[in-house]
Amino acid sequence: MEVPESIYPLIENACRDLYIKSLKEIPPDVVEAIRRAAATETLEVAKRIFSHYLQSIDLGREQKMIVCQDTGIPIYWVKIGGNLRLDGAKLDDAIVRGTERATREHPLRSSIVSPLRRENRQTNCGERIPIIHYEFQRDSDVLDILFMPKGSGSENMSFMKMLVPADGVNGIKRFVLEMVVGAGPKPCPPTIVGIGIGGSSDLCMTLAKKATTRPLGSRNSDSEMAALELELLDAINQTGIGPQGLGGNTTALAVHIESAWTHITCNPVAVNMQCWRAERRRARIHADGRVEEGF
Ligand code: SF4
Repeated sequence: MEVPESIYPLIENACRDLYIKSLKEIPPDVVEAIRRAAATETLEVAKRIFSHYLQSIDLGREQKMIVCQDTGIPIYWVKIGGNLRLDGAKLDDAIVRGTERATREHPLRSSIVSPLRRENRQTNCGERIPIIHYEFQRDSDVLDILFMPKGSGSENMSFMKMLVPADGVNGIKRFVLEMVVGAGPKPCPPTIVGIGIGGSSDLCMTLAKKATTRPLGSRNSDSEMAALELELLDAINQTGIGPQGLGGNTTALAVHIESAWTHITCNPVAVNMQCWRAERRRARIHADGRVEEGF
């Protein structure tokens, strides 16, 4: 299906809106998980922190205020419907322009700098930023764009290790727990712990990040992986790190695993944490110009 030229300005506007709105409205599944954690918390200090989180969430939604000052690294997960005939370069340009416009028009803090000179263009864009991941969806007429502004506190707590097959599943569990405990309060817990297992080193890390974008409550479709998610969630919540690392029953809201097959002599594992605000927002763009918003 050929898409009209008018789709590209539509994509640009959608990406601008995704960035701005994602910073102000926390996804309902995350809000629900925080409410549940707050209700079951027994430690006074943890209860107080959860109550601040919930106040920030309400202020963001009702007063259209940014929930946390960090505008993050702009990351887009784009799924292109297999029936759509899109110009990839124009799609790329529209996403970049939408990111720049969100930053200038709101205006948002520009969190993006060059790695050595620390130059800031004040657009939240730069070399290879925004980060755009492309996938394709068979038999679909929809362009699905999921946006996440990845905060640095949690992004700095990213870890990857090339274990060997002899380390087995126990090696994976040990690595995940060591990284979570070592990170302590730095990723602004309670977190969503994304775990990548398998692939190559780069794919493994991407899978760990992708895992954090899954809605809370979803489980890996493989029963063994799903059981490992639950086992690790339980173990992480027994560490007592708690919200902001000040102690409590909830250190992670969820553990999500994404996996890929790997080399016979490899056993890669990666951990990518998402902080409590877990911002993400989705736009589903149809060829006829309809845009559906969601999470
Ligand atoms: S890690 Fe998340 S909650 Fe903490 S400062 Fe960064 S964006 Fe905000």
